[in-house]
Amino acid sequence: MAHVHDVLVVGAGGSGLTAALFAARHGANVGVISKLYPTRSHTGAAQGGIGASLGNVDEDHWEWHMYDTVKGGDYLTDQDVAEVFAREVVDAVIDLEHMGLPFDRLPSGKIAQRRFGGHTKEFGKEPVHRAAHAADRTGHMILQTLYQQSVKRGITFYNEFHVLDLIFSEDGRAIGLVAMEFATGQLHTFMAKTIVIASGGYGRMFKVTSNAFTLAGDIQALIYRTGWIPLEDIEFFQFHPTGLYRLGILVTEGARGEGGILRNSEGERFMERYAPSIKDLAPRDMVSRAMYLEMQAGRGCGPNKDYICLDLTHLDPDIIEHKLPDIAEFSRTYLAVDPLKEPIPVVPTAHYAMGGIPTTIWGEVVKDGDSTKVPGLYAAGESACVSLHGANRLGTNSLGELVVFGRRAGLAAARYAEKESFTDLPPNATDKSRELLERLKANENGDSPFAIRRELQETMMTNASVYRTEELLGKQVEILKDLHERYSTVTIQDKGEQYNADLIDALELGSLLDVAEALVHSAKNRKESRGAHAREDYPDRDDENWLKHTLVYKEATGKVRFSYKPVVLGRFEPKPRVY
Ligand SMILES: Cc1cc2nc3c(=O)[nH]c(=O)nc-3n(C[C@H](O)[C@H](O)[C@H](O)COP(=O)(O)OP(=O)(O)OC[C@H]3O[C@@H](n4cnc5c(N)ncnc54)[C@H](O)[C@@H]3O)c2cc1C
Repeated sequence: MAHVHDVLVVGAGGSGLTAALFAARHGANVGVISKLYPTRSHTGAAQGGIGASLGNVDEDHWEWHMYDTVKGGDYLTDQDVAEVFAREVVDAVIDLEHMGLPFDRLPSGKIAQRRFGGHTKEFGKEPVHRAAHAADRTGHMILQTLYQQSVKRGITFYNEFHVLDLIFSEDGRAIGLVAMEFATGQLHTFMAKTIVIASGGYGRMFKVTSNAFTLAGDIQALIYRTGWIPLEDIEFFQFHPTGLYRLGILVTEGARGEGGILRNSEGERFMERYAPSIKDLAPRDMVSRAMYLEMQAGRGCGPNKDYICLDLTHLDPDIIEHKLPDIAEFSRTYLAVDPLKEPIPVVPTAHYAMGGIPTTIWGEVVKDGDSTKVPGLYAAGESACVSLHGANRLGTNSLGELVVFGRRAGLAAARYAEKESFTDLPPNATDKSRELLERLKANENGDSPFAIRRELQETMMTNASVYRTEELLGKQVEILKDLHERYSTVTIQDKGEQYNADLIDALELGSLLDVAEALVHSAKNRKESRGAHAREDYPDRDDENWLKHTLVYKEATGKVRFSYKPVVLGRFEPKPRVY
């Protein structure tokens, strides 16, 4: 069964829906494929806010936002991208408001804004109110708003379709893809003039994570397996400081933005020592490292000294109940801790992929250090690496990225589609996918996807998370080889066609293993510390050798190869990063 669209979007989160909407507004015939029902995409879990220099609470300027983004990214951010972002996100937020997004308001009627980590006024002076929000359900509201608009536009949705393969012409243009319908197990082919990848992150490779179960990096894995399109800066993975103890469920940085304080077992506000000017609102990489160091020094809280206390007890109860209702509820439900009365136990939790599929500032996927484009292929959102976040993303800059670069990718794809014609898919287009599914169902007597995934998550947490060394990463390379080997005979119980969740588990595990391989090799290769990539054996940032983007390829032989792309510098000179 073949479906035909000018623009085909993979993913129905904030970036996919924005791309779809703008492509449709441009006049393209748009289809959206999503393995989830659209409003279940992870964007719906985003809590704290979307950053834009609206200046509704205190004075703010896009230059300040750009500066914070570049510095927050430890100068690996491409500055042309940061500039476009900081300028365009202002209109993008107002556009969302006009589409009907119910932002919290100030008494004046303007959109309310709160403080967030790393967002400052006057180039680092003190925290600024920049995050527009709808209580602590900002992502939910964004997703609902965009989905309503997409339905109104008549965009075609293929919900609960799992993309298994991308199809390229012989001269390397993206011309279609293959997906499996979850309800029937049937394979479908899609023919398109352009494909926009908007498939989200892959935090599920770590044991403690804020990420939804489905975030497995499926399409990043497909890109990596091509052998000729790389993944970029994949070694940079963000750990958010405040996940609920043991569970990883996120407590938004908005909690600190509203005045929450991190304390060690001695009750000390330790961030005063690590970031004297902005304290608890330092960027996430710095706060997560500080928390680890406090715990290592024996100043963690609880009987095992293995968590940190997020103290909201001094806040006006009204703020907690009205500005942070969901996180108050999570804390009460999952930890039986009432944040009005006692601090919330938290630990760093795997949260966000800075790296991904390399693109230009218009979302065009590129395949090498000279930014040679892959015709017909676009990417946006967390699955992409447009190089906005560099080595560390600031809170609220992801939701902004979805709408700014989702729009750009959607428009660029629609314009390209206007000039192009369709290319017939090869008759054997589904062979590879069919063979993969048959093999997964035929395997017997191997490990279950669950067993392999658990080992992957535990070892990634120990060997490749907040602090890294050559030895730990080397060990993880070997562990991944073994897990790949065992994956070749991974065995599922359900051999049926309809709603085969076992099969999806096995497919997602395959994606996680491949992306983990790219991540660990890239982390081992980068011999410096920058942003979220902290090497104990190379503790300093090394601009002379490493102020460059990593491109990692998987060769046909299975060997991992590196290439590099220059960082676009500009108005802000790389400087030591202190707060
Ligand atoms: C708990 C939490 C809170 C957050 N809070 C904030 C915040 O306050 N502010 C902020 O800026 N950022 C926040 N973030 C980060 C931000 O929400 C995400 O980076 C962003 O929403 C990702 O959006 P996306 O459109 O790229 O992907 P997602 O929203 O993750 O959507 C991915 C889509 O891809 C589809 N897909 C994936 N694989 C396949 C496949 N094989 N076949 C078919 N479809 C597929 C899925 O069905 C889904 O529709 C938060 C993240 C988390 C986890």
